[in-house]
Amino acid sequence: MTIGWATYPYGGRVVVVTGAGSGIGRAIAVAFLEQGATVCVLGRSADALGDTIARFPAERTCAVPADVTVQADVDSAVWSILDRFGRIDVVVNNAGSSEPSVIDDFDHRAWDRMRSVNLDGLIHVARATVPALAASRGNLIAISSIAGLGGDWGQFAYNATKGGVNTMVQSLALDLGDRGIRVNAIAPGFIATQQTRSRLDDTEFSHALMNRVPANRAGVPEDVARLALYLAGPDAGYITGAIIPVDGGTTASSGTPRPLRAIGYR
Ligand code: NAD
Repeated sequence: MTIGWATYPYGGRVVVVTGAGSGIGRAIAVAFLEQGATVCVLGRSADALGDTIARFPAERTCAVPADVTVQADVDSAVWSILDRFGRIDVVVNNAGSSEPSVIDDFDHRAWDRMRSVNLDGLIHVARATVPALAASRGNLIAISSIAGLGGDWGQFAYNATKGGVNTMVQSLALDLGDRGIRVNAIAPGFIATQQTRSRLDDTEFSHALMNRVPANRAGVPEDVARLALYLAGPDAGYITGAIIPVDGGTTASSGTPRPLRAIGYR
């Protein structure tokens, strides 16, 4: 499906998107490709990455299998991109992992998995790409979550990793500003992807969700991609260190419930 995007000047720019074999990462990669960018997709499944770029010209796409939890994997992916295209202008650190967990039966290995993708992955990707971003005066966008702005039931470890992403983005924006690099976070609310589809199909859950979403719908990956297109471009040249929700208004609420009749309950 072709989406009617606003137009941005991404021809000749090289964009790297991690976790781009599915969901939000795929939508972001496609959005930049539709704007004429060269896009390199990183992720664990070569097949899924190949599907993301399949309908775009081979001369401005590349798919590089890499596990973001492994610095050497990320380093060699970035070297191969620089070897082929000579520059990197935009990095979207999207790869992420979420495992519901309450403290009573918490498995520390779940923490290790989430931390290593969500936080270590960001460190690895930033470390590998900062020299190229300094050369291009480019920018880094991290996909965090509104789950990093407050707590959620049954998600304390995921919340902690995404909170860490948000503050890491703020600090990186400070440290890298002198080198002309902007660093921002997009904090999605509830976005319909394969990962969330079963919960959305559960009527009880989706009614409860709509109690929290003034926009009266779940987000779609393209809602997030639109902000990525804007944030990475020259119109956002004075925006750095920002954490911007794409949540249909979810975080505008203090938590007081919406009247149930407004969402179809009596
Ligand atoms: P998703 O599971 O489809 O996407 C995550 C991607 O990251 C997958 O392609 C996965 O293969 C990849 N990935 C995971 N571990 C990796 C690793 N070690 N190395 C390389 N790639 C790895 O889910 P999504 O909903 O598209 O999530 C994308 C991002 O958005 C994540 O960071 C997620 O936390 C964040 N997010 C999603 C929602 C939502 O409602 N869907 C809300 C807020 C934030």
